[in-house]
Amino acid sequence: MARKAFLIDMSRCIACRSCQVACKQWNKLEPEATVNRGTYENPPQLTPQLYNQIQFIEQDKDNEVRWLFMNQRCMHCGDAGCIKVCPSAGALYHTPEGMVAFNQDKCIECHYCVNGCPFDVPRYDQKKKVTKCHACMDRIANGLAPACVKACPTQTLRFGDRDALIAEAKASGKKIYGEEDLKGLGAVYILEDAPETYQLPAKPAIPASIFLWKDVIKPLGILGFWGAMGAALLHYVTFGPKKLDEFGRRHDDDLNHPEKGA
Ligand code: SF4
Ligand code: SF4
Ligand code: SF4
Repeated sequence: MARKAFLIDMSRCIACRSCQVACKQWNKLEPEATVNRGTYENPPQLTPQLYNQIQFIEQDKDNEVRWLFMNQRCMHCGDAGCIKVCPSAGALYHTPEGMVAFNQDKCIECHYCVNGCPFDVPRYDQKKKVTKCHACMDRIANGLAPACVKACPTQTLRFGDRDALIAEAKASGKKIYGEEDLKGLGAVYILEDAPETYQLPAKPAIPASIFLWKDVIKPLGILGFWGAMGAALLHYVTFGPKKLDEFGRRHDDDLNHPEKGA
C-alpha cells in the first residue's frame, strides 16, 4: 500500500482549534481543567486527553508582533524511536498506511517510548498506558479522513498519498519539513520560518541512548539469561536435581558435601 501522510501548511492556520476539538470528540477524550495564562494557547501542551495541540508562537519582528501557529502531534516517523525502544512487540506499530498506532493491551507501562521519541509526543493515561495520535486509524481504514483533517476549515491539515502531497508542496516552492528525516515523517510540514522557530528540531534524530539499550544492553541481557539457563541445564545433567531438606530449603549434596559422593 502506498504510504499516506498528513501535509500541514502552517501558513494557512488561523488557530481556530477545530482540530483539537474534533479529535477529542472522535476519540472520546475527557475535558480537562485549565488555567487562564494570558494566552489563547490552551492547554499549553499535549496531554493524555489531547492528541493534537495548536501552539501560539508570539514574536517581535522588526518592531511588529508576529504570531505563528504550530500544530503539534505525533509525526508518524518512518524510523520511529518509540517503536524501536519498546520492549513489548505490538504495543506501538506501523499501520499498513505507514502511520504509527498503539495497542494499550500490549503496553507494559515501562514508559521507554517517551525517551525514544525525538518530538516529546507519547503521553500516559490514568491506566499508565501509552496514548497519542494514532492517525484515526479506525477512520482511514474505512476510507474516511482523520477527524482533525475533516474539521479544519482552512485546509491547513490534509491527508492522503504522501508522495503526491509532497510533490504538490514542492511545486508551490514552499519550505518543507520532514520529507527525508527519520526515513520520512508521516506528518510533513510547510513552515514559514526555521524549524527551531516552531520548536521543532532542525535535524530530528533518535536519542543515541536508545541504541545503547536496543543494540547493547538488551542483547547482553538476553545473552545473560540464556547463559544462565544453559549453565543450569548443564548442572542438572551433570549433578542431577537439587533436593529439598525437611524445611523445604534447596541444597546440593554433591556440591556442599562432596565427601558423600566419594
Ligand atoms: S513522533 Fe514520537 S511517538 Fe510519534 S512516531 Fe515518532 S517517535 Fe513515535
Ligand atoms: S489524526 Fe485523529 S487521533 Fe490524530 S490528531 Fe487527528 S483526530 Fe486526533
Ligand atoms: S482546525 Fe485547521 S485552521 Fe483551525 S487550528 Fe486546527 S489546523 Fe489551524
